[in-house]
Amino acid sequence: MKRLVVATSNPHKVDEIRNILHGFPVDVVGLDKYPDTELPEETGQTFTENARLKACAAARKTGEICLADDSGICVDALGGAPGIHSNRFIGDHSTPEERNQALLRLLGRTPEDQRSARFACAACIAFPDGKTLEAFETCEGVITQRPSGTGGFGYDPIFFIPSLGKTLAEVPQEVKNSLSHRGKAMRAVIGKLLQQAAG
Ligand code: IMP
Repeated sequence: MKRLVVATSNPHKVDEIRNILHGFPVDVVGLDKYPDTELPEETGQTFTENARLKACAAARKTGEICLADDSGICVDALGGAPGIHSNRFIGDHSTPEERNQALLRLLGRTPEDQRSARFACAACIAFPDGKTLEAFETCEGVITQRPSGTGGFGYDPIFFIPSLGKTLAEVPQEVKNSLSHRGKAMRAVIGKLLQQAAG
């Protein structure tokens, strides 16, 4: 069983990643076990660069194998925004509800067939010696007219999955994990870790 430290300060992500990796031979722990470990600023230009920055910094500091992700929502009618700025696109101290309302206001009366969007997730596993394993995945959807559902986190209540007929906040976590950007990216990067360990 390999210990894998999830390098994030978002407790929702640790829970989600633990659920996604349930059944894999890895022991998922949060950064709270390593209180001196601060994550670096997300100064990269891409999701992949930011995931790598966080995973490598945490692996260097903890001496453990660390997993980080960087994720966000890219809305076509907004030229791919907010993208890597999803967490703070209306300011550092905004709430998820405020960000959802801001996104809905920006889209205004944009018709449904022009409200396409995708969640993106870059996952990076870093070793203390600086080596990395990486994966990148997306999840396609449509921005709703108003929030719906209480599950998940962040933009889930306004992210509608046509094949489910529901937002990501209206489905059980197992369903979200089976098709989400993070679910797919985590399974892909863990696959690479296990393949490397077997080889
Ligand atoms: P970061 O990956 O910690 O930089 O944060 C990305 C931000 O994108 C989150 O704070 C959410 O606002 C949003 N986001 C990323 N993944 C999801 C998801 O699965 N559901 C809803 N919002 C998400």
